[in-house]
Amino acid sequence: MTEILRVENLKKSYNGFLAVNGVSFSVQKGELKALIGPNGAGKSTCFNMLMGQLKPTAGEVFLDGERITGMAPRKVWRRGVGRTFQITGTYQSMSVVENVQMALISHHHRTFAILPRAWRLYRDEAMGFLDTVGMTDQADRPCSVLAYGDLKKLELAIALAHRPRLLLMDEPTAGMAPSARIDLMQLTADIVRDQGVSVLFTEHDMDVVFAHAHHIMVLNRGELIADGNAEQVRNNPHVQEVYLGGGTLFKEASHA
Ligand code: ADP
Ligand code: MG
Repeated sequence: MTEILRVENLKKSYNGFLAVNGVSFSVQKGELKALIGPNGAGKSTCFNMLMGQLKPTAGEVFLDGERITGMAPRKVWRRGVGRTFQITGTYQSMSVVENVQMALISHHHRTFAILPRAWRLYRDEAMGFLDTVGMTDQADRPCSVLAYGDLKKLELAIALAHRPRLLLMDEPTAGMAPSARIDLMQLTADIVRDQGVSVLFTEHDMDVVFAHAHHIMVLNRGELIADGNAEQVRNNPHVQEVYLGGGTLFKEASHA
């Protein structure tokens, strides 16, 4: 396997408080990797530094060998780091397939001046992405009527339309029912397998994490305390101390 993302000694200080304190890790091509940790551990801060929303206080980020540390979000995005955006009010009235078509137009740098032509041009391609997420039967429904889980799948289709090499998903299943969570992560795992895209995600539901992630990293108080497969992370004494002590994250523990 080859590395798509490498993070070296990343730090973010807020007025002297180190929200992220010297984090180093890598994500391989075609890997589905989870970043977990208690609330306030620094997961979102990490993600925001990877995507360019936040400038690191120290450290380096490399995408496929290229240094992207501190680069503006749009530049990072253009280099193939995707993220799932929540569909905003503006696009709610558009149909499902139109939302994906919009993403394709944006991806291919088309402008609205040639909209009618671009519209026709990208319908088939957009339907392909809807097929990937299992939503072709909903193509012509307005987004405003979609169930929450379907909206999340559409957001995934839109992210894929930009053909990311690395997809960052910060709590993609937040607010979803457990079965829909499993569904969305299964779908994500299938996409990783079939399309060779790499995914880094955060998630609260440990069943989802341990069922789907190839590797799991644990962040605690801004520091990475584990990075390995499910077995290694489960058996890591420091992780057990952080999570099992609270008894909240591992089902086995809360039932014990
Ligand atoms: P997580 O996503 O793991 O829940 P965050 O990355 O959101 O954690 O936050 C990590 C820590 O940094 C928390 O203690 C949070 O209060 C603090 N923090 C996050 N953003 C800011 C900010 N803009 N200013 C000051 N502190 C912040
Ligand atoms: Mg967060």
